[in-house]
Amino acid sequence: MNIKQNLNDIKSQLPNQVTLVAVSKTKPISDLMEAYDAGQRIFGENKIQEMADKYEEMPKDIEWHMIGHVQRNKVKYMAEFVSLIHGVDSFKLLKEINKQALNHDRTINCLLQIKIAEEDSKFGMSLNDVKDMLSSEDFSELKNVKIKGLMGMATFTDDNNQVKQEFERLKTIFDDLKPIQKSNCDLQIISMGMSGDYKLAIECGSNMIRVGSSIFGVRNYNN
Ligand SMILES: *Cc1c(COP(=O)(O)O)cnc(C)c1O
Repeated sequence: MNIKQNLNDIKSQLPNQVTLVAVSKTKPISDLMEAYDAGQRIFGENKIQEMADKYEEMPKDIEWHMIGHVQRNKVKYMAEFVSLIHGVDSFKLLKEINKQALNHDRTINCLLQIKIAEEDSKFGMSLNDVKDMLSSEDFSELKNVKIKGLMGMATFTDDNNQVKQEFERLKTIFDDLKPIQKSNCDLQIISMGMSGDYKLAIECGSNMIRVGSSIFGVRNYNN
């Protein structure tokens, strides 16, 4: 597995407006450093403790993205350094992120996770949940978070048509919400697409892709 070459292959095919998040969950620091040495500065992790450990050990010019499901009681472990939290799926969680960001006197950028998949296992808010939240008074008072966009995960299936429909749904929701501009909400990012479907996601309007196995190889959860 040549991490540098994989990275360069993917990057050479990406349109300019698309940001690549290198998903390094379960991988050792040595693998992340290979990507770092090849120029990669944005890494995505799905476990807060693992991300915090890697943050301690790695160079400090890295942007750390939390792409997994976030438990409220663990936000404090990443509040100091996380650059973007992709999986914000409730108002309660957003309030906790705001509180922890305030403790560190900073603003934490967030994406709202929208449920686009049919699978019940996937997390996310509905369009109405988001509209209610963004228009509430409580939301305006959250000065230490900034909503930068939306994130979605398609159903895990070989049916490209279904995946495409789900991606298009996220793009439609994004376009619907985009006019809502507030001091703590300015939707610019659509985070969708992983190793198996990022090309399709980009065709459907994604400008941030989260790619793991195509860069680092398949994950071994027994390590
Ligand atoms: C693991 C993960 C990815 C990357 O998956 P690959 O198929 O390895 O590219 C992307 N997004 C999320 C939310 C993930 O948990």
